[in-house]
Amino acid sequence: MMSNIKKISRILTPLMALSMLAGCGNSEPTGTAEATQQPAAAVSAQHAHWSYEGETSPEHWAELDQLFTTCKVGTAQSPINITHEKVKEDPGLSPIQTKYFPSRVSMVNNGHTIQVNLKNPDNQITIEGTSYTLQQFHFHLPSEHQIDGNNAEMELHFVHKSEDGKIAVLGALITAGAENTELNKLWSVLPAEESEQEVELDGMFDLNQLLPADMDSFRYQGSLTTPPCTEGVQWVVLEHPVQWSEAQVGKFEAIFPHDNRPVQSLGAREVESDH
Ligand SMILES: [Zn+2]
Repeated sequence: MMSNIKKISRILTPLMALSMLAGCGNSEPTGTAEATQQPAAAVSAQHAHWSYEGETSPEHWAELDQLFTTCKVGTAQSPINITHEKVKEDPGLSPIQTKYFPSRVSMVNNGHTIQVNLKNPDNQITIEGTSYTLQQFHFHLPSEHQIDGNNAEMELHFVHKSEDGKIAVLGALITAGAENTELNKLWSVLPAEESEQEVELDGMFDLNQLLPADMDSFRYQGSLTTPPCTEGVQWVVLEHPVQWSEAQVGKFEAIFPHDNRPVQSLGAREVESDH
């Protein structure tokens, strides 16, 4: 029993630290409080249960835990509605550079989304000279960001962290269209039930197949889109969506009918584009 507890806490601790920093994904990376007894104690000591509907939905997040106060009083929250006519074009911005490689990954259904964890630290993004390492990616349905008031079918978030702990999230909008064949590697073993167990994929997953060919992007300063809604997050939202088949979108929707935070006020912030 003792060794079992030790094993769990060893797994939980780095994941929790990551989610506190990188948690656009989740504050409960290995399952919700209901899932199991031991992680539950550790998790609830950190965060209250939150969700996308009912009494724990986004409009109530700040009431659930004092650590979630920023969700209500923050002034640089995400997601936002990106309106083309307000975007400031800045040709001085460097193009986004991703160095993503075929990677070993594992997947977890944490009760909020499907999160894919990277098993190696090789995947990087460079934004205005700063390098960030990819930690995980996950999915929202419908999209969290809006373009001119419209949601896309889904949105993919690649969560990165720099050496000094800064967070950068790359968002790619997903529209229904052609099938993404690389995605089938994940979707064929999609964990439908919430669990702390990670599903390890056999072989490599090519992250580049989830990105559009044209990496033009919007940039702004925002927050994690899940509690504790921490600000200081560098956002990069790709202008060009990627396509998935309706069946691929439907497979996620069958597990998470909706897992998107509503758009937040832009306030005094500016959205820039890199071309
Ligand atoms: Zn997200």
